[in-house]
Amino acid sequence: MEKPKAIGIDLGTTFSCVGVIQNGKCEIITNNQGEYTTPSVVGFIDGQRTVGEWPKKRTHKYPLNVISCIKRLIGRKFDDPNVQKDITNLPFKIVSKDGNAAVEIQFKGETRIYTPEEISAFILADIKNTAVKYLGGQSNDMIDAVITIPAYFNDAQKQATIDAAKIAKINVLRLINEPTAAALAYGFKQKWKNGTLLVYDLGGGTFDVSIIKVSDGCCEVLAVDGDDHLGGEDFDNIFFKYCIEEFQRKHKKDISNNARAICRLKAVCEDAKRRLSNDKFAPIEVENLFDGEDLNCKITVARFNELCKELIQKTLGPVKNVLEAAKLTKNDINNILLVGGSTRIPFIRTTLSEFFDGKNLNADINPDEAVANGATLLAANLSKSFDTSIQNIRLLDVIPRSIGLRVFRGQSDRVGYFQVSIPRNTKFPCVNKAEYPTLRDNQTAMKFEIYEGEYRLVKNNKLLGIFRLNNITRAPACVTKIDVTFEIDENGILTVTASEVGNENTNSITIQQNKGRLTENEIIKMVDEIYPPIMEIDLDDD
Ligand code: AMP
Repeated sequence: MEKPKAIGIDLGTTFSCVGVIQNGKCEIITNNQGEYTTPSVVGFIDGQRTVGEWPKKRTHKYPLNVISCIKRLIGRKFDDPNVQKDITNLPFKIVSKDGNAAVEIQFKGETRIYTPEEISAFILADIKNTAVKYLGGQSNDMIDAVITIPAYFNDAQKQATIDAAKIAKINVLRLINEPTAAALAYGFKQKWKNGTLLVYDLGGGTFDVSIIKVSDGCCEVLAVDGDDHLGGEDFDNIFFKYCIEEFQRKHKKDISNNARAICRLKAVCEDAKRRLSNDKFAPIEVENLFDGEDLNCKITVARFNELCKELIQKTLGPVKNVLEAAKLTKNDINNILLVGGSTRIPFIRTTLSEFFDGKNLNADINPDEAVANGATLLAANLSKSFDTSIQNIRLLDVIPRSIGLRVFRGQSDRVGYFQVSIPRNTKFPCVNKAEYPTLRDNQTAMKFEIYEGEYRLVKNNKLLGIFRLNNITRAPACVTKIDVTFEIDENGILTVTASEVGNENTNSITIQQNKGRLTENEIIKMVDEIYPPIMEIDLDDD
C-alpha cells in the first residue's frame, strides 16, 4: 500500500474534521474519543491546555478560559464591527494586540494573550496529531495538508490561517473554499455526472453560497456570495435572548452580566436548537441558573421558526445574488447541495426548497464531512496520488470581492474613487495589468492604496495594504506612466507590483505580508509552545 502523503482538514468554526485517502477512498479519521469531528474549542484549565469535547463540556465552569468560535476572530482587527459584536456574545475576554483581535486568559498564574492564529494552531495541532498517529508517524512530524476556508474569507483571514498551520507544523499545500471542497466531494462521489450545483453552506459562524459547474473531474466555480458572520451561533443567540427575557419575566432578574450563567444557558440553547431539528418541541431546563432560580420553559418548532424567520430569509439574499452573478436562473440549477451543520434545521430546508419552487435538496453527502472529504481529495491530488481518478481532478475557483486601487481624478481630488482591477467572481490564479500616469508636474513618488469591495467611494471598501513607488523620473504631469500589476496565486493571495514604464524602478506588496500579522520569528516561538524542543542529552557528561 502506498503511504498517503497529505491530509485534508476542515477547520470549522464549531467543529473540525480531518481525512486522508486510503486505497482510493476518502477516510475521515476518528479522534481519540471515536468521533469523526472534534469541537474547535481550546481550554486552559487547571494548568492544562486541552482541545475538543473535554474543554467544551467545561465551558460553563470556566467561561473565561475556554475559547470557542476563534474562526470568527481570525485575521480581524479589534475595531472591526463584527469583533465588537462578538465581544458581547462570546463569554471570554477579547482584547487588542497590535490592533488585531486576540484573547486574554488566566493560565498557570499569569495573564496571557493568545492570537487567533495560536488558538487555531492548538486546534490544528490536535487534529493533525490524530491523523499523524493514524498514519503511524510522530506528533511533531511536519505534514502536508489542504485546509478549507469560507469562500468569503479575505486576504488577512487566509494568511492568518496559513500562519496557524505553520505554528502547528503543517505545510499548507493549498487553501480551498469550503463550498468548492463540498462540490469536489460530491462530483467524485457522483462519478462526475455533468451538472450545475448550488452549494448552500451554513455552518456555525459563516455562510457561503456558490454555483459550481461539475464535469469530467472538474469543478468550475461560476460565482460566490455569502456572509462571513452568519451561522448557527446566531440562531443560538436569538434563542438565548428569548430565554433571558423569559427568565427576567418570571423572576425579575437579569443574568446578562453573569458569565457562568450565560455559558450554561448558551449550551442548553444550542442543544435545544439541535433537538428541534428532529422533535416538535424542546424543553429548556437549567437548575439554579442564577441567584438560586431555575429556568424552566419549552420552545416549539413554530416559535423557533418565528424567532429565526428573518435570519433564515436573510440567507436568500446571497442565493439571489449568486444566481445573478452567474447569469443563471433558478431553473438552471440541477442540484442543491446542503453543507454545514445548520442546514439540518428543517425550516431552512423548506425555505430554500420553496425558493427553488419545490426542488429537492440534496442531502446525499454528510454535511459534517463533505468539506473535509473535498479537502482530502485535493490534498491527494496535489501530492501526486497514485489514483488516476484523483490525479485528473481540476479546480477553477473565483475571488469573492472586487480588488482595485484608490485613484484620484485630478490634483484637487481628495476623495478618491475605487477603480476595480480584478472584478469579483474572476477565476484565479490570474494577473491583471493597468497603466497609471503621474498627476502632477515633476511628481517623484506615487502611493498605492489597495482595496477590496464593491463601492464606488473608496472609503466604503476594505483597505488591504499601502505601498509607495519612489524615485519616479521627473517629467510634466501625465508623461511618466506607472504599470500596476495585480497577481492572485492559487491560494487566492494577492501581490501588487508597481513599476515605472521603461525603467527598472519597481516596488511591490504581497498582501499576505500585511502589517500586524505574525513574523517568522513569532511563528517559531509559537511552534515551540506546541512542540517543545527535545532536550539534547550530552553523553560526554556521564
Ligand atoms: P459546522 O460549522 O458545519 O460544523 O456547523 C456547526 C453548526 O451547526 C453549529 O452552530 C451547530 O449548532 C449546528 N448544528 C449541528 N447539528 C445541528 C442540528 N441537528 N440542528 C441544527 N443545528 C445544528
